[in-house]
Amino acid sequence: MSPAHPLYAAMEPTIFEHMSGLARAHDAINLGQGFPDEPPHRDMIAAAARALAEKSNQYPPAFGLPELRDAVCAFYARRQGLMLTREQVIVTSGATEALAAAILAFVAPGDEVILFQPAYDSYAPMVRRAGGTPVSIALTPPDWRYDAGQLAAAITPRTRVLILNDPLNPAGTVASKAELAMIADACVRHDLVAICDEVWEDVRFDGTPHRSLMSFPGMADRAVKIGSAGKIFGLTGWKTGWLCAPPQMATALGRAHQFLTFTTPPALQWAVAEGLGRPDSWFAPQREGWSASRRRLAEALAAAGFTVLPNAATWFLCIDLAASGIALSDREFSERAVSEAGVASIPVSALFEGDGPRHILRLCFAKEGALLDEAVRRLAAFRDTLHAEKA
Ligand code: PMP
Ligand code: GLN
Repeated sequence: MSPAHPLYAAMEPTIFEHMSGLARAHDAINLGQGFPDEPPHRDMIAAAARALAEKSNQYPPAFGLPELRDAVCAFYARRQGLMLTREQVIVTSGATEALAAAILAFVAPGDEVILFQPAYDSYAPMVRRAGGTPVSIALTPPDWRYDAGQLAAAITPRTRVLILNDPLNPAGTVASKAELAMIADACVRHDLVAICDEVWEDVRFDGTPHRSLMSFPGMADRAVKIGSAGKIFGLTGWKTGWLCAPPQMATALGRAHQFLTFTTPPALQWAVAEGLGRPDSWFAPQREGWSASRRRLAEALAAAGFTVLPNAATWFLCIDLAASGIALSDREFSERAVSEAGVASIPVSALFEGDGPRHILRLCFAKEGALLDEAVRRLAAFRDTLHAEKA
């Protein structure tokens, strides 16, 4: 047997997999990995079941079912005012695959790639596997703002790609129009490809429609926009996503995708196409449910003396452990809380390489209200135990 590639040999399981494994082992409440625990929408299950029974179960076209590619265009036209055509959309097996395809298509050995930390866990390893060098800019809590000076300092003649995740997981914050304009301007001036991970675009609680980096001047011919049905419908296991890009770039993306998964299960593509075509009123109750859960967790945490960071999107709230009277690092707290308090969480430091904050904990609120209350009760009791230990 030949030795494993050093990149993979040295790699740990993802923090999401690690914490969900611990949650199962300790029968803990899992507020770690992001997934909603509500039953899936009946219409989506019915659509997938109907497609399984009535449509082809053989390979769909590599670039995706035309019906889904058209549905993605119509959805973005309606919700975000973007004008895309079918040729600009490539269906993938989730956003994770879309990211891999985009990085493999546009990052060549020796290229530098700008990342903002906290960064989704696949970005840096995939950039390295493509032969590129990640150049990370650390954002700072509680606001996680983008700074023009930091960005200018990070760009070199070798910079070729910038990856932006907006809204930002784990923080749940949204870049301002001015920040997006500043980032777009840097991409245009330095001729960068922008990989825009916008999977949280439709999970917003600030009443503001999502604004894609792709919509800024000069970006339509250099932006790759990534979306995921997993987030839009709260069906994370479906692993159905897509890439949107100008036609020539989309073809290159499709060629990368054809040797990753080639295609995505057709029944799920049919069901997602049908779902994207539903009116806004169909989406509203699920959004209202997530919004109520967000409020409930934020209020329960605040009442129990935890400091909750500002956020406007995603299924996540972050707490500042130090400001909440907890001296442990986020990693120590998270590892101990899952076994000792029965609550799984995500230490935000796991999404930083090198220096970064060590006192921010991410909690997923897309859960039933009583479960959220119980999780907060357990976390507060655990904090009291820590204080008693110290005394
Ligand atoms: N990017 C970000 C920022 C995410 O939060 C996630 C999933 N939580 C993904 C990509 C991956 O999405 P998918 O499950 O569709 O692969
Ligand atoms: N992105 C999801 C989260 O933030 C997890 C995805 C995964 O487990 N790979 O929780």
